[in-house]
Amino acid sequence: MTINQVINKFKENNAGEDTALLELAYEFAQKAHDSQRRKNGEPYIQHCLHTAFVLAEMKIDLNTIIAGLLHDVPEDTEYTIKEIAKNFGKEVAVLVEGSTKLSKIKYRGVERYRESLRKMFLAIARDLRVILIKFADRLHNLQTLDSLSVEKRNRIAQETLEIYTPIAGLLGIWRLKWQMEDICFKYLYPEEYKKLEYKYEVEKKIENNQYLQRIKNILSNKLKKEKINFQITNRFKHLYSIYQKMQLKDYKFNEIYDVFALRVVVPTIADCYKILGIIHSLWKPKINRFKDYIAMPKPNGYRSLQTTVFGIEGKATEFQIRTQEMDEEAKYGFSTHWNYKTKNNNKEYLKKSPKWIREILKIQREIENTHDFIKQVKFDVFRDRIFVFSPKGDVFDLPESATPIDFAYTVHSDIGNQATGARVNDKIAPLNHALKNGDLVEIVIEKKRKGPSRDWLKFVKTDKARNKIKQAFKNTFLDNIKKYMPKK
Ligand code: MN
Repeated sequence: MTINQVINKFKENNAGEDTALLELAYEFAQKAHDSQRRKNGEPYIQHCLHTAFVLAEMKIDLNTIIAGLLHDVPEDTEYTIKEIAKNFGKEVAVLVEGSTKLSKIKYRGVERYRESLRKMFLAIARDLRVILIKFADRLHNLQTLDSLSVEKRNRIAQETLEIYTPIAGLLGIWRLKWQMEDICFKYLYPEEYKKLEYKYEVEKKIENNQYLQRIKNILSNKLKKEKINFQITNRFKHLYSIYQKMQLKDYKFNEIYDVFALRVVVPTIADCYKILGIIHSLWKPKINRFKDYIAMPKPNGYRSLQTTVFGIEGKATEFQIRTQEMDEEAKYGFSTHWNYKTKNNNKEYLKKSPKWIREILKIQREIENTHDFIKQVKFDVFRDRIFVFSPKGDVFDLPESATPIDFAYTVHSDIGNQATGARVNDKIAPLNHALKNGDLVEIVIEKKRKGPSRDWLKFVKTDKARNKIKQAFKNTFLDNIKKYMPKK
């Protein structure tokens, strides 16, 4: 990797921009790391360049890429954060400092996991770009795990799966999430990985490519008349997600393997729906497999149309239809919109970003204003708390092992009083289910329901839920008295 590759990548999206400071940062980093080498023998600067390159791929602003180049300087060299601030400005220094602090979070088994997650969230709250630097850094560390001892490898892979990839998922940075997961999978479960890799990438690949070509021909013929430009590609499911699905009992081996997954990218949203109509007219859709994530985006902002049809020779074929913009978003999540230079873009993004990201950004601004005091307060507030998400993407913090009923009352007392069931991460869960950090919780309500169940008091964790349940009983009790009182 060379600095020119990083510069060219950045210029792909920022043609006219001056990159002199980036080149200076490269020289600075090279001088600082001097003769240091990575465990695999490569000059240390290679790690800095790879980190910066991944950030440039994410179309992030110049200061973040500069910070990516310098991210290990204060920790591993004799140059200080002050010197970085003096040469590259306060913003770069703040980003480097944040990422250095984050490096100190080490995975120390499950009991420390929440603590680490909480810190990650705090880091996000300070500046989301710090997390991106950390992700790029981690990705390159994973790509060079080979030169480390088995123990160290496994620790890093485990830590990545427990802390980094869930957060990448929450932020919708799928490409990084999948890249990281597949590497971790390879090191943690080498045999399963090899088996799947052979099955899927060797045996399946030929079949997949032939099938794609046939589908492509049929679609192109049909679309010539409509004059819609489209790109169609094979979607190779990443190995770790196949492995995870296979762990679930209700999935059979073949159900996962025999699905052909294709992605169609078109110019406009109207084209997305047009293509969907054409696909459904060519092949019969499978019932209940159509999802409109354009009209109703996922909590992390993911947008696409998805449908599964009985394709050529009745083969199950999954289509994902989206615009170019949605395609970029799905790879890099919110970072696609993370343009600090043009404030208007930022506002535009804020309008359509999920509410919980807006809230984090709000906290970020608060911290910038009154920094350390609020930071300390937040530390205390977040202790022993978990974050869960509503289907709309709102984030709620609850005490550890809170239940769907606690969640329901936190959202609204009517939702609590009318709750009849819950879905956690799209699966039905009992109302006393212990929620975990990052869970997506949906409450099923019944409007006619009279009120809560007394049994709920046995498992609720929040005072709010407990008080509301008691209050509901008190109210029914008083209503009943009124009902049976002799009328005057
Ligand atoms: Mn590093």
